[in-house]
Amino acid sequence: MAGNRTFTMIKPDGVESGNIGNILQKITDAGFVIKALKYTRLSEEQAKKFYEVHAERPFYGELVEYMTSGPIIAAILEKDNAVADFRALIGATDPAEAAEGTIRKLYAESKAKNAVHGSDSDENAVIEGEFHFSANEIF
Ligand code: ATP
Ligand code: MG
Repeated sequence: MAGNRTFTMIKPDGVESGNIGNILQKITDAGFVIKALKYTRLSEEQAKKFYEVHAERPFYGELVEYMTSGPIIAAILEKDNAVADFRALIGATDPAEAAEGTIRKLYAESKAKNAVHGSDSDENAVIEGEFHFSANEIF
C-alpha cells in the first residue's frame, strides 16, 4: 500500500523569487495537509548528508553549494498516495520538461535551481522527514 506522507523543501531559488506563498497554496489546493513546517537554512554538513546519494555525480558540489545558499522551507505533507501525487504536482526535474501547471513549470529557473524537492519513495519520505523534524514538531 502506498504511504500517505511525503517530505518537501522549497529550495533557495523558490524562497528567493518570493514564491513561498504561491507554492504552499498550490500544495494545499492539491489536497496535501501540512503536518510539519520549518523556515531554516541547511548547513554544508546537512546538505551533503541530505543529497548523499548524489555524492558521485558531477553536479554534487554545485548542488550542495546551491542548497546552502539561502533559506529554505522544509515540510512534511499528508495525502493518499503522497509520494507519487506530489512528484506529479511538482513536475520533471528540469522545468523545461515539466508539464504545464506543475510547480516547477510555474516557478523553477533551471534543472539545478528547480524550486522544490519531493521525496522519491515512502522509505525516503520517512528518512527525510525525520532528518528535518523531531517527533514533537510533527502534527
Ligand atoms: P529532488 O530530489 O530535489 O526532488 P529530483 O528527484 O527531481 O529532485 P534528482 O535526480 O534527485 O532529481 O536530483 C536532485 C537535485 O539535484 C535536482 O532536483 C537538482 O536540483 C539537482 N540536479 C539534478 N541533475 C542535475 C544536473 N544535471 N545539473 C545540475 N543539478 C542537477
Ligand atoms: Mg530526487
